[in-house]
Amino acid sequence: MSSAACTNIRPHIKSDDLDFLHQKPSQWRDTINKQYVQSEKSKTTILFGGMSLLQDQLVQSALQSLGENYIALSNPDFISFQKGKAYGNRGQCNPTYFTVGNLVKHLEHLRDVEGLSTEKIINEYAYMTSGGCGPCRFGMYITEYRKALRDSGFEGFRVLNFNHDDGIFQEDEKDNTIKLSPKFFITLVKAILIGDIINILTYKIRPYEINKGDTDKAVQRCKDIISNAFMEKKNLILAMRRCKKVLKEVKLDRLQPKAKVMVMGEFWAAMTEGDGNYNLHRFLEEEGAECIPQPILSRLMLSIWEAKYALSRVETLNVEDAKIIDFTIAKKKTMILSAKIAVKLYFKIYSKAIGLNNYEIPDMEKLAKLSKDYYPIDSNGGEGHLEVAHLIESIKENKSHLVISIKPFGCMPSSGVSDGIQSLVTSRFAGSNFLPIETSGEGAVNFYSRVQMALFKAKQASKEEFEKLNIPENIPDKIHDFTYQPKGKQAGSAAVLLESLN
Ligand code: SF4
Repeated sequence: MSSAACTNIRPHIKSDDLDFLHQKPSQWRDTINKQYVQSEKSKTTILFGGMSLLQDQLVQSALQSLGENYIALSNPDFISFQKGKAYGNRGQCNPTYFTVGNLVKHLEHLRDVEGLSTEKIINEYAYMTSGGCGPCRFGMYITEYRKALRDSGFEGFRVLNFNHDDGIFQEDEKDNTIKLSPKFFITLVKAILIGDIINILTYKIRPYEINKGDTDKAVQRCKDIISNAFMEKKNLILAMRRCKKVLKEVKLDRLQPKAKVMVMGEFWAAMTEGDGNYNLHRFLEEEGAECIPQPILSRLMLSIWEAKYALSRVETLNVEDAKIIDFTIAKKKTMILSAKIAVKLYFKIYSKAIGLNNYEIPDMEKLAKLSKDYYPIDSNGGEGHLEVAHLIESIKENKSHLVISIKPFGCMPSSGVSDGIQSLVTSRFAGSNFLPIETSGEGAVNFYSRVQMALFKAKQASKEEFEKLNIPENIPDKIHDFTYQPKGKQAGSAAVLLESLN
């Protein structure tokens, strides 16, 4: 382009336009809409979502049983993603687009299909999400919700945020502002853990079902049983025992060698069951794999570990500086320990009741030790050092034939940090089968093709491992009972079962 042409397209800048250069810098602050007070409780519907399908439903029943009007949004889909992109800032990660867009989609449905006025929606609905500070984009989620809501015509719609450490509205408490009670959190955690347990079992059972669809039907019945138990305040342990009977009705052939695939990575991308990760778990099962999912339990244990680790660092500073006993730290440590014990206890009790045996609750101390030579454990954000730890654990303990680390396009902690480190891990552990893969909301064909290539190798490994073992003439019935879950040295479930008979 000639210099004359360049001159023609250069915008004309007036000196007034540059006045801002002489202004004093000022602190930008988000305007936080926190109004949700006691008197509004009875006429406010709180929307939420973002966990697995089952967990969203169970949490809805659990919280409704407390007399709260909580409604789970539907599963975020491609339309949610498009709405998130249309109203969100550029350069966000795609859980933001999916979840923010899903809320906008729901509000538009209330307005355009159900005929509610915008004013009524703003005054009588609110959205609850977890949030907090973070070195990645997670710290900006709430602001993203507000921006998208304003631009889509719902300015003033309330987005309520809770940090699991702090409860709700801690910074600017008003006397009449609703605070979340311990009962709320305990009920929430129970619903999440029960959802985790049923999800883990679903992934163990479904790949081996003889009649396609039986597992999904059984899980649906379990969902109804647990939801009713919450709503009618019945014993949840007994409800889990009823679910065990329902799951036992699913006929299984568990001696099929299937590639075992650990699905980990960024929390939301690894957990969601829909367009957000191109329905990865179902795709893997259809291609002949058994998935090891990442339960929310893992994220809870990581949060507890991070809180404890941060306190231990503060304590070290205090001891060095002043040699005093800080009772605030001692109190927080007791609370953290109590939370850890409670989560583990509930998980174990409910697991036993439904027949999830021998499940190892992620040991965060062990995982931190495994990864500390590769990933600085002081650095958090996203899943922190967990992705690296999971890969090393899987390789060292032969837990799977393939590890898939799934992350949204441009995820800072996962793509930007963990994946760089994983190349060192895979170079040190020759023969590991590791696939880091990004989702962008579009580009499913490329995604599936990469998964299929890695899966091919995993399927071969699982077949070879199985064929090396002797198949006894008489196979006991217990082999096909989902509650029989022996441990073994092999990665594949069918091979572990055979090994237990030899
Ligand atoms: S962990 Fe990654 S995907 Fe999740 S909020 Fe942070 S940057 Fe986004």
